[in-house]
Amino acid sequence: MRAFTYERADSVDAAISAAAPLPSETKFLAGGTNLLDLMKGDVERPVRIVDINRLPLAQIVELPGGGLRIGAMVRNSDAANNRLVRTRYPLLTQALLAGASPQLRNMASTGGNLLQRTRCYYFYDASFPACNKRNPGSGCAAREGLNRIHAIFGASDKCVATHPSDMAVALAALDATVEVRGPSGTRRIPMRDFHRLPGDTPQRDTNLEPGELITAVELPPSQFAAHSHYLKIRDRASYAFALVSVAAALDMQGPVVREARIALGGVAHKPWRVERAEQMLAGRRLDSAAIAAAANAAVEGAVPLADNAFKVKLARAAIGEALETAGAMS
Ligand code: SF4
Repeated sequence: MRAFTYERADSVDAAISAAAPLPSETKFLAGGTNLLDLMKGDVERPVRIVDINRLPLAQIVELPGGGLRIGAMVRNSDAANNRLVRTRYPLLTQALLAGASPQLRNMASTGGNLLQRTRCYYFYDASFPACNKRNPGSGCAAREGLNRIHAIFGASDKCVATHPSDMAVALAALDATVEVRGPSGTRRIPMRDFHRLPGDTPQRDTNLEPGELITAVELPPSQFAAHSHYLKIRDRASYAFALVSVAAALDMQGPVVREARIALGGVAHKPWRVERAEQMLAGRRLDSAAIAAAANAAVEGAVPLADNAFKVKLARAAIGEALETAGAMS
């Protein structure tokens, strides 16, 4: 690990001020469950660490109208088990509990979960020279190498990595908003625009600007609590990142779908919303034909790599199962 300076902030303003002189070389430290591994592996090389564990951002509060605000320092285990999250957003609870292990969830924060980095093998192994995300302009080892766990949607010549967060997939389906604060003030980013596709700049995972800090995630009032399901398919049920995951949320009137939300994980550089499938379900009876049509539409346009064509079939089947399960709940 390389040398860095360490500073502990007691307020949001102090944290932002501490990062301001070197915004691109500063990292905010919350749970550290991903960042410290990356620093030990010489993948992340911050020159300044600002510890934000003392910031007053660990509250979950109700918003007027029935929404919820989850502070950036709320631990994943606390968010998952919060009564209001469990009752209003069971999809989020399921996704959180599908991620990592209990020990990691006790450390990992809401903000940090969104900022965790891809688990592409080549990104983590600094001895591989070709990784545009780690070393811009160096190439992409995964394109011609092992790419079983990589993207089938939205990839570029520069990078085919996927985003690893389960929580982000549920938040995308629930139309959450990310609140961030930086030297220029506070702004809100819709969850579906928070992460980026790789394009020509795969080193940028999100639309956060250097020096900006996530302060909260806000959830709008939800009509999906009675009919939602998070399904995660992975190599090991005990602990692994998603090969494919599905966040399915339905607003039902009897057997008919009023509105649907579907987001996929493990298939793209960001949570992948499938609006066309959502629109096809709206106003339709949720029967096997409607589910099959939506699942087929959701995987249209997939571009698999040499090792991951199985993900197309897997995603189609997982969407079908998640919709069926969500529709059967009450
Ligand atoms: Fe690096 Fe992205 Fe290629 Fe993986 S897929 S080697 S993260 S550029």
